[in-house]
Amino acid sequence: LKTVYFSLLLSLTASLWSSATMSDTVMTVLVTGANRGIGLEMVKQMEARGFEVIGTARNPDRATELKATGAEVLALDVTDGESVAALTAALDGRKIDMLINNAGTGGQRVANFLDYDVDRMRQTFDVNTFGPMRVTQALLPNLEKGKVKTVVSVSSVMASIERNGGGAYGYRASKTALNMLNSSLAKEYADAGFTCVVVHPGWVRTRMGGEQAPVSTEDSVKGLMDVFAGLSTEDNGKFYDFQGEEIPW
Ligand code: NDP
Repeated sequence: LKTVYFSLLLSLTASLWSSATMSDTVMTVLVTGANRGIGLEMVKQMEARGFEVIGTARNPDRATELKATGAEVLALDVTDGESVAALTAALDGRKIDMLINNAGTGGQRVANFLDYDVDRMRQTFDVNTFGPMRVTQALLPNLEKGKVKTVVSVSSVMASIERNGGGAYGYRASKTALNMLNSSLAKEYADAGFTCVVVHPGWVRTRMGGEQAPVSTEDSVKGLMDVFAGLSTEDNGKFYDFQGEEIPW
């Protein structure tokens, strides 16, 4: 990324970010799990840059902070096919330039392999792996109408087998599987002009990341915004952290 990043910033970024404020080509971004944490901060920073932003929440009635951003708020539980279908219906065929599969869950926290419960693990996969699968499948027609046809799925360095520090079986495996889904999606839709990437936001102070996490939501999302701005079809299928470094699989 580093080698092409600055030249991309000059060429493609122009097409992605500066057009965000041009009324004829306003970029539309949809962020899942946008009522708190990293998703909420993404919505705030995207709104500030002039994007048309749709933030989804399981309970829009309780998404006070999200509503206050001025973004359009739609309901979505990524584990529920009917909820996904209702979102598609609400979008009514409009274009989405960038889908950000951000909603996620931390999974069971126990110490040892023998303590992991497979049914709990299935729930983790339902949110972290099958959720992005469902949502991306449903929104492909909308993305096909978009300009940059970008799918970003928020993964984690914890998905990396090379960097595996052990434990967190369900969370790690669900994100590793998400990475593989993204890799195959990237291959299948390359010729259609899609850019599908997975990103690691850093260890971030959110309900999931905890108070001891070193990175603020603001800095994580600022970094991610730069990564998004530098994306082109050359990055299709890749895995970046919020500082633009590629993460080994
Ligand atoms: P939070 O726990 O703060 O927020 C999680 C978000 O996901 C909430 O909006 C939550 O909604 C939503 N969500 C959970 N389950 C569902 C569901 N079934 N349907 C729809 N939305 C759902 O987490 P973060 O902001 O920290 O995490 C965002 C992403 O970043 C996740 O994918 C996470 O795995 C990833 N990540 C985070 C790291 C960190 O250090 N924080 C590190 C690496 C990756 P609700 O309020 O309704 O529960």
